[in-house]
Amino acid sequence: MKKLVIASHNKGKLREISALLEPLGIEAVPASDFGLAEPAETEDSFAGNALIKARFAAEGSGLPALSDDSGLCVEALGGEPGVYTADWAETPNGRDWLLAMTKVEDRLKALGPNVSRAASFVCTLALVWPDGREELYEGVMPGSLTWPPRGALGFGYDPVFVPEGYTQTFAEMDPAEKQAISHRARAFAKLKAALTP
Ligand code: IMP
Repeated sequence: MKKLVIASHNKGKLREISALLEPLGIEAVPASDFGLAEPAETEDSFAGNALIKARFAAEGSGLPALSDDSGLCVEALGGEPGVYTADWAETPNGRDWLLAMTKVEDRLKALGPNVSRAASFVCTLALVWPDGREELYEGVMPGSLTWPPRGALGFGYDPVFVPEGYTQTFAEMDPAEKQAISHRARAFAKLKAALTP
């Protein structure tokens, strides 16, 4: 396998996925290069939505396709926003990440001063071949939420997430450092183990 269609239109994810695939000698081609739209994510699990995206891209391109469905699960919020992580940022004018991070913080504050700030980022990768073969790989990065947001690197909720064992947020870390430890890196380590004999 030399080329993988990446079933994502999220620039942050595309950048990180391309960098993670490069050492494996695999070229990441965005689904948008094939004129493919984004299918609706109608499942209530990361795995279900990852499969929707990868199946759609594999069928539309005729090439193996890789998708990433990921999100932030906040313990005190019963795992929310979870599969709705991107939806919490939606506005009529596009996605607003500060708004989304503020929503999470407001909900936590409403639970009182001693509420747990534990959260984890989850990433599920789905690899789907045009012949219908399917594989799933999951990675989890535990951590905690900080407020106010810190750092300008990364994407999405990175400025409020401090990974376990670190003091910097994902948005303050050097991108290479984030990519060495993140939920996405952990899922990729499993994918890599499956792809390399
Ligand atoms: P989806 O998987 O495209 O439905 O969206 C997942 C959302 O989770 C992204 O749009 C980001 O907001 C958030 N997310 C996933 N991974 C990361 C990450 O590494 N850093 C920050 N936010 C992330």
